[in-house]
Amino acid sequence: MGKKPRLGLASQMGIGMVLGILAGIAAPYFSWDAGWFKPFGQLFINLVRMVVVPLVFATLVAGAASITDIAKLGRVAVKTLLCFVVFTVLGTAIGLLMGDIFQPGAGLNIPMDNLTAKEHAAPSLGQVLMDIVPINPIDSMAKGRMLPTIFFAVLVGFCLSLCGEKTKVVTDFFNGFAEVMIRMTGIVMLYAPIGVFALMAYTVAAQGMAVLMPLMKLVILMYIGSLILMVAVYFPCLKYSGIGPMKFLKGFSEPLMTAFSTCSSAAALSSSLVCTEKMGASRSVSSFAIPLGNTINMDGTAIYMGLVTIFAAEIFGVPMPFDKQLTVVFMALLAAIGTIGVPGSGMIMITMIFSQVGIPLEAVAIVAGVDRLLDMARTTLNVTGDATAAILVSKLENDFDPARGAAMDA
Ligand code: ASP
Repeated sequence: MGKKPRLGLASQMGIGMVLGILAGIAAPYFSWDAGWFKPFGQLFINLVRMVVVPLVFATLVAGAASITDIAKLGRVAVKTLLCFVVFTVLGTAIGLLMGDIFQPGAGLNIPMDNLTAKEHAAPSLGQVLMDIVPINPIDSMAKGRMLPTIFFAVLVGFCLSLCGEKTKVVTDFFNGFAEVMIRMTGIVMLYAPIGVFALMAYTVAAQGMAVLMPLMKLVILMYIGSLILMVAVYFPCLKYSGIGPMKFLKGFSEPLMTAFSTCSSAAALSSSLVCTEKMGASRSVSSFAIPLGNTINMDGTAIYMGLVTIFAAEIFGVPMPFDKQLTVVFMALLAAIGTIGVPGSGMIMITMIFSQVGIPLEAVAIVAGVDRLLDMARTTLNVTGDATAAILVSKLENDFDPARGAAMDA
């Protein structure tokens, strides 16, 4: 019996995306209500978020338990965090430079009537650190709070590795449970093409192209900035690890499309974990770096923060000398940590930068109209940065093996 040629999931998602955009463009002409598309898209987001906490917990415990060398755990943590800081700082710098050079806000005159925006209080560094330790780990998991969940999972795995043979049955359980959750992710992703179709159709139908025109320059610069970070920073890191750009884009296409269409890194987390490992990153590194990065490493959001701060400063005539731009870099680092992987959260967190450098918070309302388009780019970069870090750290730890994918598929 001959095998039927089947279209891969990534191609199906690509088709879903294109059809979704077309349906969104056609919607007003046929008087289709954009709201019709919404529940189908939301269902996809719910499905992928359903698997996140158990998947992350199980893979992290199993990953940390597999590291018997304690010094290695420390090294992986330091290298991963270093990657995150460097990527985020570079992202913000690219955003600021794009703004300085191309001045997207120059000559823009947007009426300010009825615009209000609330300041979002930034969490202090001390608070961020305190919040990492859960008083009640079950409560943190139930609420989907990733940082305390990660902290607890790493500790459980670490203790399992200390207990060794005595607790082998528990370690085996978590290994098995991680396999189950990876399988479930695969099943959930079968719905992805429909989910992506619905999300794209809803976005395009609800936004309408006319609203976007005045802010198009900003949107284009955001995409160019994202491309620069990808080509100038991520690709060389991946190349060093033995993965060419094309191979990466192919191997990582599912999380990329999930991130782009859902605007939620949390939604792309499970497939990101699986794909990164399939490309060759070790489980112990990726199960640490991907969930952690998903929570604190937001490189796309960093580009956005640099670029939109300059844009807003131009509109309101707020001078942005070099020292203020340095403040933006530092604030963006904190703001990115505070940004959670759901749609639009970067737009809320940017208010903490605005208030720091004296930009009226109304600026948020101006860019809000195009936020979805900006969010698509930043979320895509946010997940790419995590995968790049996981692959690079695996390579630096001599734990990178391109043959892993074939073994996982077997
Ligand atoms: N939506 C982004 C994410 O999920 C966060 C942001 O709004 O910048 O990664």
